[in-house]
Amino acid sequence: MSKPKNWIKKTLVQSGSLRLAAHLAKPSAVMLMYHSVVENPQLTENSIGTSKSSAVFEAHIRMLVQRFTPVSLDQVVEFAGGGKELPPRSVAVTFDDGFLDNLEFALPILNRYSVPATFYIMVDAVETGTTPWYCRINFAFRTTRKRTWTDPEDSHVYKLENPQDRKSALTVAWGAGARKTGAVQAELVRQIEESLEVEPIPNRLMLSWDQVRALKKAGHIIGGHTLSHPNLAHVTEQEARAEIVGCKQRLEQELGAPVEHFSYPHPALNPQCTEQTVEITRQAGFKSAVLTTCGPVRRGDEPFRLKRIYAANDLDQWLWNLNLTFLGRSI
Ligand SMILES: [Zn+2]
Repeated sequence: MSKPKNWIKKTLVQSGSLRLAAHLAKPSAVMLMYHSVVENPQLTENSIGTSKSSAVFEAHIRMLVQRFTPVSLDQVVEFAGGGKELPPRSVAVTFDDGFLDNLEFALPILNRYSVPATFYIMVDAVETGTTPWYCRINFAFRTTRKRTWTDPEDSHVYKLENPQDRKSALTVAWGAGARKTGAVQAELVRQIEESLEVEPIPNRLMLSWDQVRALKKAGHIIGGHTLSHPNLAHVTEQEARAEIVGCKQRLEQELGAPVEHFSYPHPALNPQCTEQTVEITRQAGFKSAVLTTCGPVRRGDEPFRLKRIYAANDLDQWLWNLNLTFLGRSI
């Protein structure tokens, strides 16, 4: 009997029917994506439009425990892989990047409502304390008094006369940073700050290793988010491997425990990962990886391409987005 069964299974896998079945399965979990939680998002130097006020975040978490079932990332990954069933309307909370405000503002709220979360850490920011490159570039273009910017890569001159001009130049600079890693990327940021005559953001926004350990000790999951936050689909294979493997090794050294989950950074460019990126992440020993692509998690989903949704600021919109995603609709 095992032979025909195997044959059927093989045919289903090859024909993509199982993937189709996963697609048609009822959405059973949604993962929310946060970055930064601060007192006043308007005033923050790290703001790239993804910071939430702590009052808004608390309203989200209060609603989460009232209308949904908070679950951990481990539960979602196990479920997607065919393991234990999840309670109805399961929601997992995730944070990308490793901002200090995650500990200062988000952690007390999460703990007050007993909501588990996962924090995906960008390792170089912890090692050096330096604000992530995409925040620094954004801050430089937002605050410069210069009227033009010359792209150091091709000497093209961009006007900075109005917000639209600045946005166009920023997009180019972000794209350049996303294609680089480590010291080369740091040098590009330094050049941009110098040419725009803007001082670097002081080093006070990121978690330290002790603080990352404190998040773990409080019962939350720590995941990896590369070393220097490039777009992994737009760097060399060697660079991608160094970023993914290096991140896992450093986190495990500092935490003294396995780090099993990964989040692909998504600065500036599309796509955010390729087959090769996924393969390197799998080979590195991670068990799951999340995207910024919006959608629910269904049983049978590929564990290295798990979808999340952006947490909207407005509470009604936030609720609407969650409900729509549970219905399998795109937001
Ligand atoms: Zn990120």
